[in-house]
Amino acid sequence: MLPVALPFTGIDASARCSALRSGSKDGSSWNTKSAVGKWVASACRWASSIGGCALRSDPRRRRFSIAHELGHWQHHRGRSSVCRASEIGSVSQGGAGIERQADNYAADLLMPAYLFRPFAAAHRRPSFEAIDALAAAFSTSRLATALRFIDHSPWPCMIFCHGQNERRWFRRNGGIPDQWFPRDDLDPESDAMDVLYGKIDGSRPTIIGADAWFDRRGADRFELTEECVKGFGNDVLALLTLKDQMLD
Ligand SMILES: [Zn+2]
Repeated sequence: MLPVALPFTGIDASARCSALRSGSKDGSSWNTKSAVGKWVASACRWASSIGGCALRSDPRRRRFSIAHELGHWQHHRGRSSVCRASEIGSVSQGGAGIERQADNYAADLLMPAYLFRPFAAAHRRPSFEAIDALAAAFSTSRLATALRFIDHSPWPCMIFCHGQNERRWFRRNGGIPDQWFPRDDLDPESDAMDVLYGKIDGSRPTIIGADAWFDRRGADRFELTEECVKGFGNDVLALLTLKDQMLD
């Protein structure tokens, strides 16, 4: 349990935004006549106006979607835009634009850095077990939590998403030099292959040559740790932890 009460803890499927507007049905404690209450209610009306797709999803995803809409309310009031549910929390479209700004707002709101960093650092090493524990603590999705983990982890780590035909996206934390740019394809030696083609649901953290993931000259002189799990659909998510020697 987090040491503070985050504003969206009580959101559930039946309550939807009407509970937020009333400020009482789900036990929420803000005053809807206050500035914050009016702000939340307005953002929820906006969230409802996008067709409610986000509101029908699972509770963790729904919390992120509403926080994303609050981000639009905070940063983009008065601007005309279409907010598609498929774009909320999507990593594949890069880091620019108002959708990413709203995503960043949602991540900051639901996983405040000053709380998230010590929670992340309390784990022995990067792993999906650690990410899932953080996701449970912050009531956020595995993907949203994994991205936050990459950004705020004390370890040099990256996360990749691969489909059967292409690498969809990747993210690395700020301590990793740009020259460690990933291969487009998947190496047959990687456990990601077995997860991608359904032989296994996930792998344990495993040491593998860095040339399995990077085609930089000399990559075969380094090793890293990979762990793979199923992503959305038929995709695979791979978490890589680099050795300190790779950061020079
Ligand atoms: Zn949006």
